[in-house]
Amino acid sequence: MSQKKRRVRFAPSPTGPLHMGGVRTALYNYLYARQAEGDFILRIEDTDSQRFVPGAEEYIIESLKWCGIYPDEGVDAGGKMVETPSERHPHAPYRQSQRKPIYRKYAEELVNNGFAYYAFDTSEELDAKRKEAESLKKTFTYNHITRKGLKNSLTLPKEEVERRLAETNNWTIRFKNPENRVVKMDDQIRGHIEINTDTLDDKVLWKAADGLPTYHLANVVDDHLMEITDVIRGEEWLPSLPLHYLLYEAFGWEESRPSFAHLSLLLKPDGKGKLSKRDGDRLGFPVFPLKWVNAEGEVSRGYREDGYYPQAFINMLALLGWNPGTEQEIFSLDELVKAFSLDRVIKSGARFNPEKAKWFNQEYLRMQSDEELAKEFVPILKENGIDTGKYSMEYLKQLCALIKERAHFTNDFWTISHYIFTAPQSYAENDIRKFCTPENLENIRKVKDFLEKTEIKEAPYAKKEEAVSVLEERLTGYIKENGWKMGSIMNTLRLFFVGEAKGLGIADIIYFIGKDEALNRISAALEKISIER
Ligand code: GLU
Repeated sequence: MSQKKRRVRFAPSPTGPLHMGGVRTALYNYLYARQAEGDFILRIEDTDSQRFVPGAEEYIIESLKWCGIYPDEGVDAGGKMVETPSERHPHAPYRQSQRKPIYRKYAEELVNNGFAYYAFDTSEELDAKRKEAESLKKTFTYNHITRKGLKNSLTLPKEEVERRLAETNNWTIRFKNPENRVVKMDDQIRGHIEINTDTLDDKVLWKAADGLPTYHLANVVDDHLMEITDVIRGEEWLPSLPLHYLLYEAFGWEESRPSFAHLSLLLKPDGKGKLSKRDGDRLGFPVFPLKWVNAEGEVSRGYREDGYYPQAFINMLALLGWNPGTEQEIFSLDELVKAFSLDRVIKSGARFNPEKAKWFNQEYLRMQSDEELAKEFVPILKENGIDTGKYSMEYLKQLCALIKERAHFTNDFWTISHYIFTAPQSYAENDIRKFCTPENLENIRKVKDFLEKTEIKEAPYAKKEEAVSVLEERLTGYIKENGWKMGSIMNTLRLFFVGEAKGLGIADIIYFIGKDEALNRISAALEKISIER
């Protein structure tokens, strides 16, 4: 590798929300740049006005920010696109629609040097050709053979070409693929690739109708002007690589041609096919970093809104297609920067595992301090109508320490512990049938009397563990002394405290709801269940 400063770019088209595969591409570019102490550039490729989706660019910027992937160029500190070149951003602007005046001269230069030609066929004429080929079970391509029989500057007289250029604007500039030449290419992940130019079609590079370049021209010209040294992008662009190589050659930019790495696709959880934008809603997991609402008002879920920590999302994505060569799975962004290398990026598709994604989040959740978790829990409690003023930070910290073991997300905290904050309004019918035998109810009355007489330490007590285990010993001791079935008594108590025979340990529940509330809940349940019977 030369000593040149590495410059990479993430170049999304604002045609919709960024898929998690796109975030992975951005991440690998970012890691590569950081590791090499190079530059990471965000360029918006918006030359296809037909596919432009309002809000998509903002979505991309916000997603990268949420992930902690900050570009060195392309977006200023305030999140806006940089529109004019400056010392810090000499290659601005970074939105291709704002670079419109740049491209035409490059397209014309190719025509003048014999690497491209003007094509005048209307879309109706080309459609007719396609239909005709289809009826013969063939596919029409504008290539080194068909171009000889079509309306272009290679076939029409010079004056006619000039007249059409001056009088009409429904013409394009197409790349003139050389005949029967082998293009030799190298990919950092896939190795050496060769392709014969006769298999390629003459792609449109520039369109007079809107005065805009197509992806290929704009992409290559900008990579050159922005001094990009390494292109790391999705596998779907691999078929474009021969054309890009030929363009670098035609412009005489081979010396500074970037190196290329094409990342394999993300696959569906069953490994059958590409993970598509629709899979998430169909299979019940997010495929987008953030929630997205389309023009029809349809909502797609996002990792952020589902309660993922961005660090967990990034960690999961990094390992989806790259392996560190060790058993280590948990990496901070800084650790990823140190460990990442393109030669450990896998060639085959990476199968997405939604359960593993949850596991990553759980790991990050457990890494948070109890205080941080308690702070995250407060707004969730408020949303559920709980007056959080009644609970001290210490109380919530102790509760979080206990429930985090059972949660993947802080959003799960409420599901796991709602009954600590609100008494049950009803009791599960099948649990009543199972546990509320007259004999058991009689025993529970005695348990209640026993609890009433027992000294109970309540949350937040400084020695929580000790308080809970003392209570547990006393309670289980009392049940054993009487020769009652442990499971029946404990599950009945749980039913009374929770509303169903599920939940945290009984001693923990009593510790958190307090003695008075525990006694109240037993009385209320005994009364309600006796009346209903
Ligand atoms: N605009 C292309 C995209 O949307 C960029 C491909 C590339 O990185 O060259 O993916």
